[in-house]
Amino acid sequence: MDTLLYKLLSKDKQARIFLIDNTAVLNALEEKYFMSFAASDVFFSAITFCCQLHGIMTNAKRISVKLETSNPSAFLICGADANGSIQAYASDDFRQESYADLSSMIGSDGCLKIIQDNGFGTLFTGIVEIKENSIVNNLAHYFLQSEQTNTIFRYFREIQDAKVLLSRGVLIQALPFADNSMMSQWENRIDSYASLFADPSTLIEDILKTVFSDSDVLDRYAVRFMCTCSKDTILEMLLGLGINDLEWTLNDNRNIEVRCNKCGKRYSFDADEIRCLLL
Ligand SMILES: [Zn+2]
Repeated sequence: MDTLLYKLLSKDKQARIFLIDNTAVLNALEEKYFMSFAASDVFFSAITFCCQLHGIMTNAKRISVKLETSNPSAFLICGADANGSIQAYASDDFRQESYADLSSMIGSDGCLKIIQDNGFGTLFTGIVEIKENSIVNNLAHYFLQSEQTNTIFRYFREIQDAKVLLSRGVLIQALPFADNSMMSQWENRIDSYASLFADPSTLIEDILKTVFSDSDVLDRYAVRFMCTCSKDTILEMLLGLGINDLEWTLNDNRNIEVRCNKCGKRYSFDADEIRCLLL
């Protein structure tokens, strides 16, 4: 079943709200467990933020969120296409980060890039430096810096015994000419309902009725996790391994199994298929 992203408009027409429970999207990710709480927190927040961008940038063919750290091989990237298919990838170095907090993980010059492909051959890339020691504040900061839009982003999650029990995000944006005090009122309201958002037994419909009773649902967008890997793309990757490694496999005359490092799907290749690659 698809996950729904709700788009709401406050009745006073001062704020638009995006609300999602994407627990199912995260549970579909094969490689979701990390050594450190900080690394998985960043990864899950970025995926949730990316789901919400899908509702904000409705004209985009594709939106990507990339987080770079001082170590060029420790990064994460997630994306959403126009149909709401979500992809996510964290590099091995990023997964192995064992730092306890965001700033030590990012190092001296990390940045957040939002890349928007509107399908006309031009990519729009917004870049912000990682400044605050909280990934949700950095994600919200992106809008202030790149679009001068006041934004609140909150993320709630609970993981138990290697299962994501709950993952919910709420993003609120001030509309033009909104009252200055309005956003801090929203911030207080969301924070005062934090335990409701974080309770797996609360349905998203209950949150809509309780927290957003003075807002109307304008739209619902379906999102789902989907990897674009195929036997062909994995074969291409195998070619990149180099002839020597593949010949070694052939001499051993055994099948090889390769796991997609984005979704965890396993592909098996027999000796004949490897032979074809080497021709
Ligand atoms: Zn895959």
